[in-house]
Amino acid sequence: LFVVFEGGEGAGKSTQVKALAEALRGHGRAVVVTREPGATDIGAEIRNLVLHGSPPSPRAEALLYAADRAHHVATVVRPALGRGEVVISDRYVDSSLAYQGAGRTLPVEEISWLSSWATGGLKPDLVVLLDVDPSVGLGRVSGRGEGTDRLESEATAFHERVRYAFLDLAAADPRRYLVLDASRAPDELSGEIMERVLGMAQE
Ligand code: C5P
Repeated sequence: LFVVFEGGEGAGKSTQVKALAEALRGHGRAVVVTREPGATDIGAEIRNLVLHGSPPSPRAEALLYAADRAHHVATVVRPALGRGEVVISDRYVDSSLAYQGAGRTLPVEEISWLSSWATGGLKPDLVVLLDVDPSVGLGRVSGRGEGTDRLESEATAFHERVRYAFLDLAAADPRRYLVLDASRAPDELSGEIMERVLGMAQE
């Protein structure tokens, strides 16, 4: 079972990823928690380059995310799925469609092709989209006082394109998505996510 969390900055993905992993482990499932970009040694270098180095051009940026993903899928995701484990990833292909496609205004169908080449066509069984108004999400991130990465300082219009790209992807394939309002209480959200995933895990 391959579950992906998507959403804009400050949507609360990492909190929900952790809650789902703990709940599934409590039900005796083996779980691998991972993320993009940066889950592997090569990925960590790519993450640093792409988020903290000098800004790559949009196509170079798209290729760096694709390289991170190709290595991640080949060395982490597919092996774990092959062992019958649940894989929970914080971000996957939809982030590229939303950020590099809609955000950077690269042709979405080209990013889609690049992503499916990178992954060998591996699709998640479920995408949990934590939908948040960018002004709320960015406020949460800056409130945390963490070092900001380059994306967090993009204009609001960029983050709005990203938000609506995620929502459009969900609307185009509703059975694969669980769309949740990320301004709701974290406990309520994790309850709903768990219910959906447990239903799938028992299938
Ligand atoms: O999920 P997390 O906040 O760790 O993501 C790190 C940053 O990478 C975010 O600012 C996100 O917008 C950006 N990102 C991106 N394109 C992707 C994946 C992540 O711009 N495909």
